[in-house]
Amino acid sequence: MASSSSKLTLKLLVDAKREKVLFAEASKAVVDFLLNLLCLPIGTVIRILNKNQMVGCLANLYQSVENLDETYMQPDQNKDLLLKPNASVSSQISGLLPSVNDTSSNNSTNVFYRCPNHYGHVTCDNTTRCPSCRTSMNSQMIFVGEKVANEISAEKSGFVKEVVTYMVMDDLAIQPMSSISSITLLNKFNVKEVGSLQEKVVELDMNQGVNLLKASLQSKTVLTDVFLRNHSSA
Ligand SMILES: [Zn+2]
Repeated sequence: MASSSSKLTLKLLVDAKREKVLFAEASKAVVDFLLNLLCLPIGTVIRILNKNQMVGCLANLYQSVENLDETYMQPDQNKDLLLKPNASVSSQISGLLPSVNDTSSNNSTNVFYRCPNHYGHVTCDNTTRCPSCRTSMNSQMIFVGEKVANEISAEKSGFVKEVVTYMVMDDLAIQPMSSISSITLLNKFNVKEVGSLQEKVVELDMNQGVNLLKASLQSKTVLTDVFLRNHSSA
């Protein structure tokens, strides 16, 4: 499912009167996408959202590193470690967020590297320095474990199991779907006229993926913001 044109769908339950998403019915793939946001390094988030879209001051921190001349960096350090940190989780995200790993030479999860001189340490980032001799750990090793190869296969990848549908709240709280929990929720949201509830199927593509990441940093009504209100942003 990790092609460059990935598109997922979610089914929203919308309170049309209040123009609010009550919750979304989401597949494993959507939930995996959301959980993957937790694995993104902050530097990557800033890069995806563009500095001017970030609230707070982290973007200034990022800009400062961009501006800093390499001569101020420790000789064994590289600005890209900060500006383009390695996100080791891209498979569920690819297609739904801009490429987060476009610089590092190889991020496929079953390629590892070691120091040319020392065998005791292993890394998946070939710019890492050996803790013993500070040489770049760039000797490629191929992981041949049968178990890992199997786990990469479709339905076992990601974080959550595929057997159930998940319920994603407007504030991104996630739980397995059940009819009891949906009824309880209707109560909680004080929905008196079931007639004002509408089902709406929406697509989650790369634009919406970025919007979702952005909204999740700023809002408690993420699904409403992204899928009901955010018509203007392309
Ligand atoms: Zn070494």
